[in-house]
Amino acid sequence: MSLQRHLSKDLILYKNLLFPSQFVKVSTLRYSCVVGIGGNIGDVCRRFNHLIFALKRFVGVDVMQSSVIVKNPPFGFTEQKDFYNAVLELRTSMQAHRFLNFLLRLEKRFGRKRSFANAPRTLDLDIIFFDNRVIDTEKLSVPHPHWRERESVVIPLSSLHVKRS
Ligand code: AMP
Repeated sequence: MSLQRHLSKDLILYKNLLFPSQFVKVSTLRYSCVVGIGGNIGDVCRRFNHLIFALKRFVGVDVMQSSVIVKNPPFGFTEQKDFYNAVLELRTSMQAHRFLNFLLRLEKRFGRKRSFANAPRTLDLDIIFFDNRVIDTEKLSVPHPHWRERESVVIPLSSLHVKRS
């Protein structure tokens, strides 16, 4: 079951049993990360739920919380279906590049095929923030470039609970 609310002509917010949700309260894992998740092939919201279950099975990752889901139009290659996007707050002790490789393997497991830039996809996983790190290598840019300009990131991000210490 899901609830939906139109934010504008093009943007729809979805809420279901797992999105948004707070899961683990306390984690001993070292780094706090925000991961953007997205897709536009098949039943994406169902796949997001499966992703939560898959992540919960990894000892090296704690799923702290999930955001609302936002349905939004594609950019770049616009002749394709709208995207569903959300963000997850995860904790891990993996280093950033190892964590990226872990996410890339997970994308593959969820049927991601790479064809061309901005192509339709079953599941896209992007590291938006990795702790407070700034990383700029050939393989990894963190914070994710352009995150501020994307409603697909900013809207879900604003629904996360901020922990005050
Ligand atoms: P995409 O087709 O958008 O999924 O891009 C995937 C590629 O972008 C990966 O193979 C990474 O090497 C690279 N990349 C650079 N920065 C990031 C990031 N912050 N999160 C995920 N992938 C990244």
